Amino acid sequence: MFKIVTIPGDGIGSEVVASAVQVIKALEEKHGLEIEIEEHLFGGASYDVHGEMLTEETLEACKNCDAVLLGAVGGPKWENLPHEKKPEAALLRIRKELGLFANFRPAKVYDALVNASSLKSEILSGTDFMVIRELTGGIYFGQPRGYDEEKGWNTMVYEKYEVERIARLAFETAMKREKRLVSIDKANVLECSQFWRNIVHEVHKDFPEVELSDMYVDNAAMQVVRDPKQFDVIVTKNLFGDILSDISGMITGSLGMLPSASIGSKHALYEPIHGSAPDIAGRNKANPIATIASVAMMFEHSFSMQHIADDIYTAIEKTLESGLRTADIANPGDSVASTEEITDAITASLEVS
Ligand code: NAD
Repeated sequence: MFKIVTIPGDGIGSEVVASAVQVIKALEEKHGLEIEIEEHLFGGASYDVHGEMLTEETLEACKNCDAVLLGAVGGPKWENLPHEKKPEAALLRIRKELGLFANFRPAKVYDALVNASSLKSEILSGTDFMVIRELTGGIYFGQPRGYDEEKGWNTMVYEKYEVERIARLAFETAMKREKRLVSIDKANVLECSQFWRNIVHEVHKDFPEVELSDMYVDNAAMQVVRDPKQFDVIVTKNLFGDILSDISGMITGSLGMLPSASIGSKHALYEPIHGSAPDIAGRNKANPIATIASVAMMFEHSFSMQHIADDIYTAIEKTLESGLRTADIANPGDSVASTEEITDAITASLEVS
């Protein structure tokens, strides 16, 4: 028995989470699983009812389940609130409270969409790697920080335990894949990066089967677009990962296709990387695949059920191969499917396979 807390949030969040729930229910039936789903308010939807984006009740629910599925938060209605009341502050708080120190972003190309990228198909075809970004340390959190009229300053700092735990997770991930890990840093310029590199190499001693290499972040940005197939698993600190995970995701297609997992030692949260898309919200136009693929990541990481994750990926692939496309991934001249049509097709594909 697994318990999933869903927090649909705002805009298309509720549409794509509804799609994911439909898929989870189909999986439950097909594989004889027992899954309890409990929905809670978050973001603007919560603010409108309770006057806060994240209530203690929602937070407690997220702490007392096996995995959290988040849609998206925010929208024009809540944009002018004070900084500490904004949806982004609630997102940071939930990640911090759940201790989610590692963010996993797959960069995987679906064959049916190989022509949807800004890269040439021969460069892209077969690309399948994982970017693991440290999420709770580094320059985004280091003290001191601030600015005055003369200068601005931030501090990049990593404690040994922070590097050790993310490195260990990265090696473990590589062990389940092709056993190749690239650690990305800027050790030629930053002492903090040299420290990162030293610790990653220490942890490597526990994973001798994994081939480890180091790469400077400027070179990595170039290599991701020059030859993305060379990578299996990438691990990097918060700032570099923020940028590299976006580049790596986008070479594979649309925002509507990109899932993510944020993992801690006790909790895990899964979410599409896109926002609440107010421009298409409530119109049955959103691509639900990023959220459905986030459910696949949940089965992989939180429930250790790789076969079910694979089942979901296959259903997504089959649906794309059948030519069904939401507007964000459609080619000119294609007929455009709705959120519900894509979800029904993925669910039907799961049921027959
Ligand atoms: P966005 O990701 O919401 O949308 C960017 C563009 O991509 C839009 O044109 C949108 O229609 C399209 N798009 C996004 N997801 C799609 C999907 N699943 N299917 C089809 N098209 C899709 O980014 P934005 O417009 O910069 O932000 C809108 C709101 O979302 C803002 O309030 C922002 O703060 C918030 N936001 C939230 C998160 C989050 O919850 N994690 C992330 C980013 C932005």
